[in-house]
Amino acid sequence: MVDTSQANYAQYLKGGGEMGRLTREFDWGGTIIGSPDTWSQSLLTTVSIMLNSRFPMFLWWGSDLIQFYNDAYRPSLGNNGKHPKALGQRGEDCWQEIWPVIKPLIDQVMSGCGSTWSEDQLIPIYRNNQLEDVYWTFSYSPVIDETGKCAGVLVICNETTGKVKSYNEMLEAKKELEFTIEAAELGTWDLDPVTNRFKGNDRLKLWFGLPLDEEIDLDIAIARMIEEDRGRVIEAIHKAMEKGSDGNYNVTYTIANPDNGLRVVKAVGKAVFDAEGNAERFTGTLEDVTTEHQLQQRKDEFISIASHELKTPLTSLKASMQILQKLIKTDILSIKLPLFIDKASNNLNKLLYLMDDLMNVSKIQQGHLALNKTRINIVDLVNDCCEHLRMGATHHIQLIGDKELFIDADYRRIDQVVINLVNNAIKYSPLSDRVEIKVEHDAENAKISVRDFGIGISPEKLPHLFDRYFRVDSSGVQFSGLGLGLYISAEIVRRHNGDIGVESEFNEGSTFWFTLPMG
Ligand code: ADP
Repeated sequence: MVDTSQANYAQYLKGGGEMGRLTREFDWGGTIIGSPDTWSQSLLTTVSIMLNSRFPMFLWWGSDLIQFYNDAYRPSLGNNGKHPKALGQRGEDCWQEIWPVIKPLIDQVMSGCGSTWSEDQLIPIYRNNQLEDVYWTFSYSPVIDETGKCAGVLVICNETTGKVKSYNEMLEAKKELEFTIEAAELGTWDLDPVTNRFKGNDRLKLWFGLPLDEEIDLDIAIARMIEEDRGRVIEAIHKAMEKGSDGNYNVTYTIANPDNGLRVVKAVGKAVFDAEGNAERFTGTLEDVTTEHQLQQRKDEFISIASHELKTPLTSLKASMQILQKLIKTDILSIKLPLFIDKASNNLNKLLYLMDDLMNVSKIQQGHLALNKTRINIVDLVNDCCEHLRMGATHHIQLIGDKELFIDADYRRIDQVVINLVNNAIKYSPLSDRVEIKVEHDAENAKISVRDFGIGISPEKLPHLFDRYFRVDSSGVQFSGLGLGLYISAEIVRRHNGDIGVESEFNEGSTFWFTLPMG
């Protein structure tokens, strides 16, 4: 009986695009499997399925593992690489660079041990004039011939290089984003508007004092905000997510977490809407702005204090001037004239001191606080300074310690520091009448301490004393001042490479000290 399928072998090689044509034109007689009219039915059927499939397929046939592949597989061979030489070639000749990897798989299938399955496996191949990292998901399956033996291995595969690369790029981008979030110390959140629950990173949950391993109900987070902020935040969230909104969200509020106190945060986010305009996601970041917020508050307080401090002497000066103008017109020889001239002059001096402090601060800010160092006897400096202060004295200023101590320093600037510390000692001890100044030294440093027996400072305020604008009593009800003297003093001492500090007990008094290098 004539084997019709084999006689009609040509119909099995029909179609198949470029690879169909190349398969038909190929001189199979030159290979071990011979010309197509001698091919077994199983080979013809398998080749036919392969050529007509849109899925990438590859076939090894016979003892030499002679190769076939289809159009869908062809791009995986790249340009200027194995195509079209791979058609009809022996497997071992074609895949030299990966033969040790794939030969065991082929052997496994040929020996009847079943199919293989590999997902996103890296198999670098030579294509496009170079060895390229190529990822594949593939299965090797046996093709059984008419004798019941495995005659070939059919590879159905998919190149997943693009997918794996995108996945790796996404992982890289995620890592970068996480790194940026870490570096910027941001909290992150992602709210599902349907469930009203959100995910957040650990930092955000710690800030709110919420469990780290759970999604969080928005209402619970809102309840952790200070009461006066809640309404404003809820309104901002609704506004960002309502239909027709631009989705933007930008609000600053305070978290009140019993574990770590008040924290001011700036939340910035964006809602994403579906085709119907309903918010489907709402994500964003939280930034801890507590320090900036405090600084802003202090600045605002400072402006109000500074205007008050400037206005008081100005008002007195204006009053003195008005009286003087009047006296000059009406009673040019009045005995009150010197009194009001003195008053005016005192108020002018106060204004000059205030202006001096303000100008010093801007000099420090701009790094323009220049030093003019000379060799000075610091004991003389302190003595002169005390003489000056004793003139209008309410307090007895006592100087103890070294009688002579020479150092290199800017006389005018160190004088400013001593005057500031002694003035503070007087100002903040209204119920005492004693201030003690001590000059001492060791091999490295001179140390000047100013001790008073006044109101003292509570421990929690001590770390901020040398900050700009800081005042223990910011209302300025009891004591006037700008909160700049210690800041300027600390800067002057630091510029001399010295240290400044304070020991104090509330209601007992304070000792402010600074050191200056001897050398
Ligand atoms: P000012 O005295 O103008 O407020 P300072 O910078 O000199 O500014 O001092 C900052 C704050 O430190 C003061 O407002 C005061 O609360 C506190 N302080 C400074 N010196 C003393 C002191 N000897 N005793 C108690 N508190 C002091």
